[in-house]
Amino acid sequence: MSDLLKISLPDGSVREVARGTTPAEIAAAIGPGLAKAALAARVDGELRDLNRPLDKDAGLAIVTMRDEADALDLVRHDYAHVLAEAVQTLFPGTQITFGPSTDDGFYYDFAPKDRPFTDEDLPAIEEEMRRIIARDAPLVREVWSRANLIARWQAEGETFKAEWAAALPDGEELTVYRAGDWLDMCRGPHLASTGKLDPHAFKLTRVSGAYWRGDQNNAMLSRIYGTGWLNKKQLDQHLTRLEEAAKRDHRRIGQEMDLFHLQQEAQGSVFWHPNGWRLWLALEAYLRRRLNAAGYREIRTPQLMDAKLWEASGHWGKFRENMFVVPDEVPGTDPDQPVLTGKGDLMALKPMNCPAHIQVFKQGIRSYRDLPLRLAEFGCCHRNEPHGALHGIMRVRQLTQDDAHIFCTEDQIVSETRAFCELLDAIYSDLGFANYAVKLALRPENRAGDDALWDRAEGDLREALKQAGLLDERFHFEELAGEGAFYGPKLEFHLTDAIGRTWQCGTLQLDYVLPERLDAFYVAEDGTKRRPVMLHRAILGTFERFIGILIEHHAGRFPLWLAPVQAVVATIVSDANPYAGEVQAALTAAGLYAETDLRNEKINYKVREHSLAKVPALLVVGKREAEDGTVAIRRLGSNQQEVLPLAEAVARLKAEATPPDLRP
Ligand SMILES: [Zn+2]
Ligand SMILES: [Zn+2]
Repeated sequence: MSDLLKISLPDGSVREVARGTTPAEIAAAIGPGLAKAALAARVDGELRDLNRPLDKDAGLAIVTMRDEADALDLVRHDYAHVLAEAVQTLFPGTQITFGPSTDDGFYYDFAPKDRPFTDEDLPAIEEEMRRIIARDAPLVREVWSRANLIARWQAEGETFKAEWAAALPDGEELTVYRAGDWLDMCRGPHLASTGKLDPHAFKLTRVSGAYWRGDQNNAMLSRIYGTGWLNKKQLDQHLTRLEEAAKRDHRRIGQEMDLFHLQQEAQGSVFWHPNGWRLWLALEAYLRRRLNAAGYREIRTPQLMDAKLWEASGHWGKFRENMFVVPDEVPGTDPDQPVLTGKGDLMALKPMNCPAHIQVFKQGIRSYRDLPLRLAEFGCCHRNEPHGALHGIMRVRQLTQDDAHIFCTEDQIVSETRAFCELLDAIYSDLGFANYAVKLALRPENRAGDDALWDRAEGDLREALKQAGLLDERFHFEELAGEGAFYGPKLEFHLTDAIGRTWQCGTLQLDYVLPERLDAFYVAEDGTKRRPVMLHRAILGTFERFIGILIEHHAGRFPLWLAPVQAVVATIVSDANPYAGEVQAALTAAGLYAETDLRNEKINYKVREHSLAKVPALLVVGKREAEDGTVAIRRLGSNQQEVLPLAEAVARLKAEATPPDLRP
């Protein structure tokens, strides 16, 4: 075995170094700038400590702050360790358990000695964390034997850690990271020392309960959450975003605008109020027009279908725990006759529409002349999500997809996908989302079909994206290796909202498998039977979640064509009441949703109230307006008002309330 290793660097050069050289030493040899900036290393793709010796020929890349995703993950994990050390310093006797990084920071689960932690403890813990960071102790990786680890944890009264050390799988190297005297059992990697952390780029955010190993039969632990970043600027931006997101929370705005409610007795299913339902219907009508114009044909398929169909489609095997299953019988109350009618066969509420759409496709003999066949459904589906996973109207159990399936020949995949991309682009831009990212998810490890089929399928989607102009930089195009579905590659469309958050909404999935499983075929030009390809596609995803996103994106200030109450006519004096009625009638006749506010209240009070309810246009009328036949229009969020003749005001609002696809 040679004692010289060949280490290849990202620029293509190869360095010969002695076995046991560390990435930190190589970074230093390249230059002092890199040595200073270095945070960790990627060794043959694996993220590792800077000071972990190299033991074989490898590709090496030095990770710096510029590799933001890696850097964030590293610092967050480090913050978690520092948090744990700080807590044990301030609260001796606290046991440590487990503390990973999260999407915006980190948490750590503790078993406190006397009492669970509270938010009041957080400032002192933050201070202690800053002291630990300032001490700048090296974080040293050590490999321990299981027996030593267990003995150490038991000696320190760390029963959770001891239990975990005993349960770790055989054959795995057991490592600890030591900062001075303090250590935690961990796979790593970590930064070289605590001083690499910015002491002003983290904040502890909250405390909650959590069960040991996520199991509610286990001990309740005290979890401390924090958010952690590379620098203070990033932290501040994040905190502002959180504040802004809280202001825009769709649950809060939903209440202020009287759009919907949720209640205990129907977990995860939405009660739409008149205002919210109006918004839904405006969106649905808009989409329906867009789909009709794009050659889709709308259908409606059953909610309840026999388990046999779900067995054939494969959902019964793979998706059953997410399905609401219903016995096909009427249960009796008499113990001697537990079943009044039915034979007890099982049915299920549909969790997706695809198998039903294939049933429609299969009626009669389809010919190549029928293709492409685009079947659309605003399909109401049910999925049995655990209560804890539900979130407002964003994550629900009863959901309505803007679903469609395109049955086509292989030759039609590119043109159909391209047409879909163009439709989606038009719809997103009409709905106020100018920015979105496009991703292509490629073949997963476990898949149906041979490589030639996947080569063609992935190539077709790429070609369609190219033709639709989506490979442009503007769309941050990215390929996701291994993330396609079992049955085919897929496209994902991620919207960016007004405060920079992203939401995956649109999708198109190529599927060769389901038509085969459910025996769908068409007769080709040469008279042979062929399988159609199936494109599963959605643009909004689900109405519920998309309306939630719309609410948060617009902060409830919808464009006029989507606003549930488009105008309110508010009087200054009661003498103007009859005229206010005339104004409302004129607006209604023009197809606008208008209300009157004739209450005996000060106009400023009325303005404030309708602003809170996010009414886009307030038409103020007093004696003078009544005499002149005018209205004073006040726009939401503006202190200005504009006096216009009634007919002109109505014409303007009408033009503005026209959905974008119907504008001249
Ligand atoms: Zn760790
Ligand atoms: Zn589908």
